[in-house]
Amino acid sequence: MIPFVDLSRQHAALRTELLAAMARVLDSGQFVLGGEGRALEEELAVTCGVRHAVGVASGTDALRLALTALGVGPGDEVLTPAFSFVASASTIVMTGATPVFVDIDPETYALDVAAVARAVTPRTRAIIPVHLYGHPAPMDALAALARRHGLAIVEDAAQSIGATWAGKPVGNWGDAACVSFYPTKNIGACGDGGMVLTGRDDVAERVRRLRHHGERGRYRHVELGYTSRLDELQAAVLRVKLKRLSEWTERRRRLAALYRERLAGLPLSLPVERREARHVYHLFTVRHAQRDAFAKALADLGVGTAVHYPLAVPNQPLFGGDERRFPEAWRAAREVLSLPCFAELTDDEVEGVAVAVRQACDRL
Ligand SMILES: *Cc1c(COP(=O)(O)O)cnc(C)c1O
Repeated sequence: MIPFVDLSRQHAALRTELLAAMARVLDSGQFVLGGEGRALEEELAVTCGVRHAVGVASGTDALRLALTALGVGPGDEVLTPAFSFVASASTIVMTGATPVFVDIDPETYALDVAAVARAVTPRTRAIIPVHLYGHPAPMDALAALARRHGLAIVEDAAQSIGATWAGKPVGNWGDAACVSFYPTKNIGACGDGGMVLTGRDDVAERVRRLRHHGERGRYRHVELGYTSRLDELQAAVLRVKLKRLSEWTERRRRLAALYRERLAGLPLSLPVERREARHVYHLFTVRHAQRDAFAKALADLGVGTAVHYPLAVPNQPLFGGDERRFPEAWRAAREVLSLPCFAELTDDEVEGVAVAVRQACDRL
């Protein structure tokens, strides 16, 4: 059996360090907005090359609070890809604004720039480019378009920490970016967590306020805020893991290269890595016209897989469900299948997956 993901391998290797970090927090008696969180914010800002990093309770809250901090609210439209995790659109609704879906480039799953240009109206306030699976969106073109129309950009970098476009790291292209520390992300907490990255002092300051009840000065609340802090235990865990991130990213890229070698010539589409892109392979997602039968065959052969995502966002019941205006998103939802890809996966396991994929292709 080759698991789709196995966090216990990572935690076994780091167990002593993680327990020591957790004990340090326990002994400090400080669990919210303390030294671990501040240190992680500084370390992550350096890692990502941004001026500010602000810890929040999740990647979802990072998106929601970044949008709110940029003034997005009722009456505004925000452009978001029709194919992503639901939070890339639901967070727009949470601010009171309206998500406007845009179809994707079927090779990289990123926003289709021409379709973005067509979707801009006088009410458009912002764009959320999603760097899906770890492949960056075409940020030079999107940034130019946003500048032309006076739009804000909030990058959804939940799956893409460490990725670059045209040599510039994700998180540096927009007014703000969100990072998620959901346990299976490229750097995951032992629970939930997220971070807003921004080069703007005003946005950083407002997110700090929003995450803590809109407080400015002790128990003085100047606007509606939330309880959305990154807690000290998670921050301590993440500081241990952050030291390994670049090594883990290299390993994911190596696994992707091995897969490319071993899966070449089979009747399925492999992930595309654009010339300008440094992909961080949060997921190694292939496409097969008979995806469900293909996944079933792999399961029978002992290989774990997952579907990210079985529905395009506008086809989610939340958004009405019956929507055919985004053919590429709709087709991707029926064809994508993610293969095991995590830093602790061994070369032998990649070999095993490749043998199973070949057999599964032969059976279909
Ligand atoms: C995980 C994820 C989020 C949300 O992050 P959480 O930490 O789970 O709230 C947002 N967007 C994308 C693309 C994601 O993969």
